Amino acid sequence: MGGVSIILQAIRNRNRYYSPSEFQSSFAPISTLWYNRFAMQRKIQGALTCYTFDSLDRYNIIHAISTRHGGISPAPFETLNLSRHVGDTPTNVEENIRRLHIPLGLDVTTTVDASQAQADCIATVGAEHRGTRIKDVDALITNVPNIPLLLRFADCVPILFFDPVQRAIGVAHAGWRGTVMQIATKTAQAIFDTYGTRPHDLIACIAPSIGPCCYRVGDQVIARARDAFQNADELLISLTDGGIHFDLWQANASQLRALGVEQIEMANICTAHHTVDFYSWRAEKSKTGRFGAIIAITND
Ligand SMILES: [Zn+2]
Repeated sequence: MGGVSIILQAIRNRNRYYSPSEFQSSFAPISTLWYNRFAMQRKIQGALTCYTFDSLDRYNIIHAISTRHGGISPAPFETLNLSRHVGDTPTNVEENIRRLHIPLGLDVTTTVDASQAQADCIATVGAEHRGTRIKDVDALITNVPNIPLLLRFADCVPILFFDPVQRAIGVAHAGWRGTVMQIATKTAQAIFDTYGTRPHDLIACIAPSIGPCCYRVGDQVIARARDAFQNADELLISLTDGGIHFDLWQANASQLRALGVEQIEMANICTAHHTVDFYSWRAEKSKTGRFGAIIAITND
């Protein structure tokens, strides 16, 4: 029964995010690629509305993909904007970050975040980094308990990592630049090299971000994607709008599968389709906030 309900939930999720005509005409041939054993859980914890991954909940790993609900920022950042660099006030952002941490039981003063650079640098976070911002990196990894890792998003792909054997975690930010620069590959490899993680133990979760349905790209991105991916024909999809759309979800998943990572949970939730819940740089024409992907290991 459990299996059936999970499958039904996955089908409901899959169909919820695309119009029927869009799905049938353009996505039916590759729909099996989007099959998802799991479905993200939408949770309300106190004032916080967030999404979590079943594959991480199974291990009681504290993590969340925040939404735009539960904060204090006004339009166009309404309401839980986590970025100080989009025009919102520092006071609003500070309060919103506090509101993200409290329901999760996390100490905001220990969180490590990063000034993201749309590139492929990765920081190995140690106890000495507690409560700091690391400059110009797009992925954070650690095995130190009680140091939450936080990155910010509005359409770029958040990827959460967890190895339940070595108790290591990570979070990566993959826009199109990070994706063609193989940040998913490099973050997973850094976890393998630093913590002795085996590929088949690593769980990777690809969180809400702009989907192939909405991510029409131009010649520069197409050329870079063709250079970066042997399977580019599967990732660059011709849609009925006459454009080429880049499937960032499968581009990142394919990098991980090539490393032998088998446990990949896909949210299959498009941020541009769901601006009620998420910030979307493209759908909101760049005037918007940022939501967060946060993960922490604890002592117990
Ligand atoms: Zn979409």
